[in-house]
Amino acid sequence: MLTKEPVISIKHINHYYGKGILKRQILFDINLDIYPGEIVIMTGPSGSGKTTLLSLIGGLRSVQEGSLQFLGVELYRASQKKLVNIRRKIGYIFQAHNLLEFLTARQNVQMAVELNKYISQEQAIAKSEAILKAVGLGERINYYPENLSGGQKQRIAIARALVNNPPLVLADEPTAALDKQSGRDVVELMQHLAKDKGTSILLVTHDNRILDIADRIVEMEDGLLARDSQGKVKQLGG
Ligand code: ADP
Ligand code: MG
Repeated sequence: MLTKEPVISIKHINHYYGKGILKRQILFDINLDIYPGEIVIMTGPSGSGKTTLLSLIGGLRSVQEGSLQFLGVELYRASQKKLVNIRRKIGYIFQAHNLLEFLTARQNVQMAVELNKYISQEQAIAKSEAILKAVGLGERINYYPENLSGGQKQRIAIARALVNNPPLVLADEPTAALDKQSGRDVVELMQHLAKDKGTSILLVTHDNRILDIADRIVEMEDGLLARDSQGKVKQLGG
């Protein structure tokens, strides 16, 4: 079934923080492929290296050792220009929603659309309103974040991450600040939008109640990819 090229292909990634005597290895020989349309959940204790790995995949941090390809493009030793182009093809959702408080829901989403300079303002507005309706915020398009609930704000962040139809969405503990039901709603929404469009999602979470939305679960432990449910299935299958 997985005959397509991976969206992300990671081989033998090591990563270090600090210099000289303070240099400390954080990631150890990480290998991971993510395929189009796959929803991968990454779990693991705090400090195990999840955010570091996500920031490498997102082109937000330079790859120090190993190979990391995004749609066949190598990020190791990639130029800043190349990294900027890659970042445009990735939707990011963080624990805190990172919305701009002085912009409305629509304007927050529209900013992401307007990164594409070939889209007119009218088109950008139409696209932003359409995706806000899709995430259930049709009645809140002109609201400012301060007048919305945590779950509603995280829906705007999802709309913003998905509005340009990126092949990959990276989500770092997107439900951490939400109550149980809003957290569940928010990931189900991501799941539906992504399955609709064939988007791959890599989602970091501590929340055991949402593991069932994953096609595959991987676990980080002390900088190692300790478990991969796909690997286990393969082994069981012989
Ligand atoms: P997680 O997201 O799983 O909690 P992180 O990737 O944030 O893990 O952190 C992994 C380890 O790297 C932790 O020990 C953390 O203290 C350390 N670390 C994270 N970011 C930095 C940084 N910018 N500089 C130095 N050490 C860092
Ligand atoms: Mg983290």
